[in-house]
Amino acid sequence: MKDKHNRNISYIRISVTDRCNLRCSYCMPQEGIIKKQHSEVLSLEEIYQVVHACTFLGISKVRITGGEPLIRKGLVSLIEKLSKLEQIKEVALTTNGILLPKYAKELKEAGLKRVNISLDTLNSDKYREITSFGKLQDVLAGIEAAKKVGLTPVKLNTVLIGCFNDEEIEDFVKLTIDEPIDVRFIELMPIGQAAGWAKSRFIPNTTVLDKCSDLAPVESIDASSPAKYYRLPNAKGRVGLINPISHGFCADCNRIRLTADGKLKPCLHSDDEIDIKTLMREKNGSLEDAIKEAIYSKPLQHELNQKDSKPIDRDMFRIGG
Ligand code: SAM
Ligand code: SF4
Repeated sequence: MKDKHNRNISYIRISVTDRCNLRCSYCMPQEGIIKKQHSEVLSLEEIYQVVHACTFLGISKVRITGGEPLIRKGLVSLIEKLSKLEQIKEVALTTNGILLPKYAKELKEAGLKRVNISLDTLNSDKYREITSFGKLQDVLAGIEAAKKVGLTPVKLNTVLIGCFNDEEIEDFVKLTIDEPIDVRFIELMPIGQAAGWAKSRFIPNTTVLDKCSDLAPVESIDASSPAKYYRLPNAKGRVGLINPISHGFCADCNRIRLTADGKLKPCLHSDDEIDIKTLMREKNGSLEDAIKEAIYSKPLQHELNQKDSKPIDRDMFRIGG
């Protein structure tokens, strides 16, 4: 379905849980979170109903995210059901990778096409520092597990953080030389409680091109992808730059989001939300109409790159990226 700015909306990102087995500094408050009760979170059946309704409105791609999606019980069977929907051409997953050694094979068998794995540093001490207690070797094992079962091409999501991983940019870029993986650098976005921290550590993605002058632009396979892709000479993989702050990509936005607590978000950087959990549970409206409203009310663009813009209140772990 087209939104009112004539963009074709074909993609839904779904946060299946707001819980996580890590605490990344830019995403979750270090002191922990107030856990939502089970009844406050959409059931897997409710999530399925939303996607089913979306298929009548032209949605053909689903990305499962979180919190950490792999800690949600029953996720594999949800992915299996979503993959069987005729109109859904792709089900993908964004994960921190820690639980992939356990689930990669089942996920592949359930119909998952590929995974994006988040990894901000290749140094184990720094990994523990940014995630609060994560072990780098667990993610590396997760990447290997994804490759082994064919959840490929693996994409690594690396949030660029000033005075943290800017010195590792070249090392990340080198990972693309011998292997067909994509490394995608994401600009740090000020969101929720971690917004102040994010603002103070922001560096623009142009830093990557400044440090790696051999990178040459390549055409994106997916025109609606927010990443602009580059490649080192003869490299097997690509380097993607996702620049929500320095170069907005709202003109090509093709997505809506569903939060774990049942709110449809027309735009990541707006506090406007549509409560479909209540609608579904109280049966006081049409789910399809609510999804249409979410698509139709998408703003033309976010205003994050304007000087005095206010970050949204909802934390990133409650949205899913
Ligand atoms: N737990 C999973 C993971 O880390 O991949 C999925 C959820 S996480 C919220 C999704 C993506 O959002 C990750 O790649 C993460 O690095 C990114 N992210 C979280 N907070 C961010 C922020 N403030 N700015 C930019 N990216 C962020
Ligand atoms: Fe958890 Fe992902 Fe947020 Fe890190 S970025 S705290 S892994 S939800």
